[in-house]
This record gives sequence, C-alpha cells and structure tokens, in this order.
Amino acid sequence: VLIATVCSPISYLPLKFALSGTKPPEQTCESREQRSSYLKHRSPELPPYLLSKLQEYERRHRRCGPLSESFNTTSPLGTHNDFSDGEFRTDDCKFVVYSPSQGLGNRILGLSSTFLYALLTNRVLLVDFGPDMEDLFCEPFPNSTWYLPETFPFLFQLQTHRFRASYSYGNLLKRKDGDSSSSPALLQIFLQDKYNEYDKLFFKDENQGFVERVPWLVLIHDGYFIPCLFQMQSFRSELEKLFPDQETVFHHLVKYLFSPSNQAWGQITGFYEAYLAKAEERIGFQIRVFEPKQTPFTAVMKQITSCTQKHRLILPQSDEVTLRNEKSKSILVASLSRKYYEEIDWMYGTRRRQSTGIAVYQASHEGKQHSGDNSHNMKAWMDIYLLSTSDVLVTSSMSTFGYVAAGIAGVKPWIVMIPDPYHPRGANESACERAINLEPCFHFPPWFAYPDPPGTGGPVGRCEDVSWGLKLV
Ligand code: GDP
Repeated sequence: VLIATVCSPISYLPLKFALSGTKPPEQTCESREQRSSYLKHRSPELPPYLLSKLQEYERRHRRCGPLSESFNTTSPLGTHNDFSDGEFRTDDCKFVVYSPSQGLGNRILGLSSTFLYALLTNRVLLVDFGPDMEDLFCEPFPNSTWYLPETFPFLFQLQTHRFRASYSYGNLLKRKDGDSSSSPALLQIFLQDKYNEYDKLFFKDENQGFVERVPWLVLIHDGYFIPCLFQMQSFRSELEKLFPDQETVFHHLVKYLFSPSNQAWGQITGFYEAYLAKAEERIGFQIRVFEPKQTPFTAVMKQITSCTQKHRLILPQSDEVTLRNEKSKSILVASLSRKYYEEIDWMYGTRRRQSTGIAVYQASHEGKQHSGDNSHNMKAWMDIYLLSTSDVLVTSSMSTFGYVAAGIAGVKPWIVMIPDPYHPRGANESACERAINLEPCFHFPPWFAYPDPPGTGGPVGRCEDVSWGLKLV
C-alpha cells in the first residue's frame, strides 16, 4: 500500500465525487474578448500544431473533467478504500492535480508548467484552489471546469499540510519502490524549492514510464519547470513541434490559461480607463523587495534610477530636460510599499514638474504579502494585469510576479537587480539587464538539467537575474 497509510482517516469517506462540490463555470469571459485592445503588443499567432493540441486537450477535459458523465459515474476510487491500486478507473482518463502554496506569480508559473505537462502526457489538469483564489480567473476550458471537486478524498490533506507526506514519488524512489511493476493509483510529485535529490528524479527520462502508469498525480510546486521538460528526451521533439519559437512558450501558455474573471476585469479596466488610458506611453514599475527590513530603501532606489537613467526609460536625455514635445506618459508603480510610488512620483510626477506630462499612479499598496486572502490576491492580479498593459516594463530580479506581467504583456522587461542581504550583488554588476525573451527563470533546477558543458547551446541557458537558475533561450 503506497498511499493509504497516509490517508487512512479519510479512506472511509463516500467514494464518489459529487457534482454539487464543483464550482459551476462562469458563463461569459469579457476579458478574453476585450483584452487585445488593452495589451498593446500584438501576440504572435498560436502555432497551428499547438492550436490543434489545445483543441484536443479541451475535448479531453470535457470528456474526463468534473462535469463529465464519466467523472461522475465512475467512482474515482473504484471498489477500493485506498489509493494503492492503480486499476481504479476503467476509462482512459488520467489526471494531474495542481496544489499551490506561494504567491500569485509563483502559482501562475506553477500552473502553466503543470498544464504543459498535462498536454504532453495526455492528462487532465485539475486545480486545488482554496477560497483565496475565488473569482480571479475565467474557466480556461470551454464547457467544463478545472476545479477539483470539494469532495475529492484528498482535498483536506492537500489544503492543510500541503501534503509533504512520506509517500511522495521521491520517497518511493528512496525506498526503491518507484521502479516496481505495480503502480499506485495516486502519486505526489513534490517539486518545491526544498525538494531533495530523490524528488528531483521526476525530471529523469527513465522515471517517466513509471509515472505515466499512475492515474492520479498531485504536483506540489510553484516554479516554472518547463526548461527541465525541454531537457528531457521524452518530451523534447514534441515540445519543439508545439513551440517552434521557444522564446514565447510562457507567453502562449499564460494567455491561454489566465483570463481575468469578469469581476477582476471590471476592476482592471476601471483603473486603466480612469488613470492610464489617456497617456501616449505607459511605463510599468514592479518593485519587489524580498527582505524589506534588511534592504535599504535608498539602495533599491539607486538601482532603479540608475537603470532608468542609463537606458532612458522615462526621460529621453538627462532628467533636467524640458519635455515640451515628449509623449504624455503614465507610470504605474506596483509594489507592496507606498514609499517607492511616493519617491517616483516626487522625481517624475506632475507635482514637481508640470511640464513633463508624466503622471504616476499606484493601484494598491498592501504593506506585506498575505496568505489565504482573496481580496489581497485580487489586488495582486489587478497589478499584474495593469503592468501588462505597459509599453515599457521595469521588473525586479527573482520575482515571479514580474515574470508573469512581462509574459502577459509580451514585453521584454528591464530587470532591476534588487539588492538582497542573502544574495549580495557584485560591485561591477549592472543595475539592470534587459531580458533576452519573455521566458521566466526556473529558480531551482536539478543539477542534471544544466547544459553540459555549460553554454553549449540547446534550449536552455542562464537567467539574467538568478545565476543558478535556468531559462529557455
Ligand atoms: P514573488 O514572491 O515576487 O516571486 O511573487 P509572488 O506573486 O509569487 O508572491 C508575492 C505576493 O506578494 C503576491 O502574490 C502578492 O500577494 C504580494 N505582492 C508582491 N508584490 C506586489 C505588488 O506589487 N502588488 C500587489 N498587489 N501585491 C504584491
């Protein structure tokens, strides 16, 4: 028995998913129809093969997903009271459940990676969103839902201790059960930043055969692990067919999966129309300081101003020039703190220099990151989407929040190297670097995913902002 030991307290629950536990899909999705007039950069067309695979995926999701006949008539646990027996479904539907933990940016990266894994392995993606994620997104798959039903037998475990149980795939491998001929019905794949050497073996080609036989996978992670999928022979050629241009993988996935719900869209467009729409150019600053108590405000501002001045991101020459013929500009400052907004407003805003035609705005300043808070996540989503309407984007090193905004915008950001007591910046390091493409950085790849020898081409290379990270290049 691989999983039942962990879950014995709930293995006596009624072994049937109920439709009543499933969130009904929203009828319309205004943002999907309207967003192209807000996002200034024209998206490249979806490659035809990717489009056909997405359509095939949508059919599978409808056929197997929580609103389908098959999902509700076939007991997910069969006649067994545990997950030890892989024979529990009679149809050919296999699932991957995404279970999030960190902030919204991390979640969006994690979900995008999990969806691509589902696409590659013919699985159906279901999400274990708690109430804090309510009403952020439209349902991505037509006539179905991606919500894991509330009656899913493992939901309690997923939402409480985030499931770092001793029966994860890594632990199976450690105990040398992970290559046995019998496979469990459900397997946890633990890929969080603190995953161990055994957990990492999920990214080895030779282990995918075992994983493939398991009908239910639960992926626990919050990173953009797509570069590792490109490094696996099992997936490489299919990925190259799906994405002839590897620099827009995330851009296509994030736009396909994440459309603001009507409620979120109302807030985003309301702010946009009131403050940003009139300007001829929009500049977005995303300022993320991970250790605010230990990171001097002045040191962060110094990096930001030397980046903007060196690359003339706001003013064409020195900031003393009179800008009579310049375009009108709006600057959106997204940050947990209000101080950065105040400083940038003081430096560039109309209060100091009437003639510049620059206005500075901030939609929210939450102080600190909250967890389990729906309205906080809604504000984060609003900031991400408002940033993505920018013509010029300045983001912060190591921040997934910034990666997502740039990915939706289709704008290569200037990534400011934010000082951090744990990762001090070298004296000769430049204040910012222009991202080479729209791909996020995977912050904690396994050692075997690095190109060997380094820099030998292939689909992955170094990140601009995290020296130990990997990204598609
Ligand atoms: P990361 O930590 O920068 O990689 O980004 P995440 O999105 O994963 O986690 C940070 C979380 O802090 C966000 O999801 C928000 O909840 C909050 N947060 C950080 N920066 C901002 C911001 O500029 N605006 C808002 N509204 N929330 C933010």
